[in-house]
Amino acid sequence: MFPAGGGRVRPAAGSRAAAIRGVAAATGGRRVFAGELPARPQQRRISEWSAARCDEVAGDVARGGLWRFTEVVADVLYPGLGTAVAAAQRVTKWGPELLGLNDDRGADVKVGLVGSDNLGLWVLFRTRLGQSDLGPRPPWCTDLPVGPVGTLGGEGVRRDSTVISGVEDVKPADVAGLLLVPPAAGADTRLLARVDVGRRAGIVAVDSGDGSWQRRLFFTVVHPPRREDGHHERYRVVCPTCGRRRLAQFRGFDVCSDCGWLSLAG
Ligand SMILES: [Zn+2]
Repeated sequence: MFPAGGGRVRPAAGSRAAAIRGVAAATGGRRVFAGELPARPQQRRISEWSAARCDEVAGDVARGGLWRFTEVVADVLYPGLGTAVAAAQRVTKWGPELLGLNDDRGADVKVGLVGSDNLGLWVLFRTRLGQSDLGPRPPWCTDLPVGPVGTLGGEGVRRDSTVISGVEDVKPADVAGLLLVPPAAGADTRLLARVDVGRRAGIVAVDSGDGSWQRRLFFTVVHPPRREDGHHERYRVVCPTCGRRRLAQFRGFDVCSDCGWLSLAG
């Protein structure tokens, strides 16, 4: 019943995450140009990042701002789901589960799921260090633009929205794992989540304190229909996007644990 692909989430291990931040702090203030990974100074940071688990680099954002945003927009993406989400929120100590699908493979793209099997609501995401996230990317990746907050539109969630955006202030440490050059300790860091309602897919961007948004993570919100028998009618072995053979099977959907390709059952 529970995902075949991933292990249970361990609590964030302070040591490795702290080491990553320590490495990053040594490079503070360096200017990074969009789309480029600087050759030398951050090589160590890049290899540390690859070695880290998904929850170490994206856990705070995925369980925090991204999940809160998902709860708010769930009923717009999947009309009727809001009731179940509200009920789940009332349960004491309820929180989303996080699964790193390609942990311990040294991947430079982290593929993860955050959500709840009981609720049947998951957010599938992928993130890569640096600005660019080129192929092989699954078709759900949506290159929504990021811009000044003033262009976000009015407050509130409207049912006729085509794009919904949310911004929140976050602690620098919460977003440090997603950034090539993590922010200074007292930086005014912010998180922007934006979803295309029709595609149920969007992006998360980070402002590291300088006022500009860096698009750091792609996500799609999954709420597969319940199937009584739990069987899949088709079984794939090879991912059509990246060609690898590590598809993880969940209740109602399959995911390529290497690139994030998604197949809804039924
Ligand atoms: Zn794949």
